[in-house]
Amino acid sequence: MPPTHQQFTSDNCSGICPEALAALLEANAGHDRSYGDDRWTAEACELFRALFDADCQVYFVLTGTAGNALALASAASSYHSIICHRVAHVEVDECGAPEFFSHGAKILLADGEDGKLTPKGIREIATRRADIHYPKPRAVSVTQSTEAGTVYSPADLLALRTACRDHGLALHMDGARFANAVASLGCAPRAITADCGVDVLVFGGSKNGLSIGEAVVFFNPAMADEFDYRCKQAGQLLSKMRFVASQWVGVLRDGAWLRHARHANDCAAELDRQLRAIPQATVLFPRQANGVFVRLPPPTIAEMNRRGWRFSDTFGPGTIRLMCSWDTTPETIAAFITDLKAALEA
Ligand SMILES: *Cc1c(COP(=O)(O)O)cnc(C)c1O
Repeated sequence: MPPTHQQFTSDNCSGICPEALAALLEANAGHDRSYGDDRWTAEACELFRALFDADCQVYFVLTGTAGNALALASAASSYHSIICHRVAHVEVDECGAPEFFSHGAKILLADGEDGKLTPKGIREIATRRADIHYPKPRAVSVTQSTEAGTVYSPADLLALRTACRDHGLALHMDGARFANAVASLGCAPRAITADCGVDVLVFGGSKNGLSIGEAVVFFNPAMADEFDYRCKQAGQLLSKMRFVASQWVGVLRDGAWLRHARHANDCAAELDRQLRAIPQATVLFPRQANGVFVRLPPPTIAEMNRRGWRFSDTFGPGTIRLMCSWDTTPETIAAFITDLKAALEA
């Protein structure tokens, strides 16, 4: 057996949370209808509408990549462009799926501090050209919380919305870690979606304690038109949909989704606090959600690897990403810090 101790490599290294697992087992009792016509799917959709206090339309897909790509394809046609941050998952981690499913929409990249897009960045790209030879800007994609572990405030998003409105751009939110953003801001979920003109949100489940499954939540009903066909064609209409939907019911019905996100954020805050006290460690971004990014001497990272720790280096070699999950324990944090201090001496 390989070692199974907790890691900070990604928040999707964790298992299934008890609430999702219990609902999954409930859904497993007896037969139900297939392809999303079951009672679990109906209940999950109702719980999302209650959560957002909005008449949103909800679809379930198996991966964040599928959710983002299909949602963006609903916003942008083949001759359009989509504006996102240089480090956005849709740009660097989806193997061109948004371009593929939109049949060629071009992704245009903007910069911005701490992994965040700015209204200025959007406006610069949206007004760069107005002629027919340029891929027409049609959508903006933001990640909440961001790939740098930071969070857009409601004010940030309202400013982005104004830029989007001014330039006729739809607003898509990659919410693989949406729960962590809500936990961080302590706001109502609609305060950073419906109230900020978000047209479609891809709400992440797998990094929040589900085994599988992300929810695509449309606040703009026109954009959801025929989305069911997009999902089916892309192989995302699960015949046993109740096994995704029930897990969502499990985490939504008693607020577990938010409790788990809060726990993960608190763990990251503790890591951040301890790392900032270590002179050889440079923390890169303000810690606002469940991730901490830290620059370390390369031999120290090698020594940590030798001690069994695995890291993602999304911001390049010499920088490690530490993601906390719903089940991260204080013991794991303590063990990591102890090993890190020893590795710095080695
Ligand atoms: C994990 C993640 C996704 C979804 O990834 P899949 O592997 O396709 O499920 C999307 N966006 C961000 C920012 C992520 O971190």
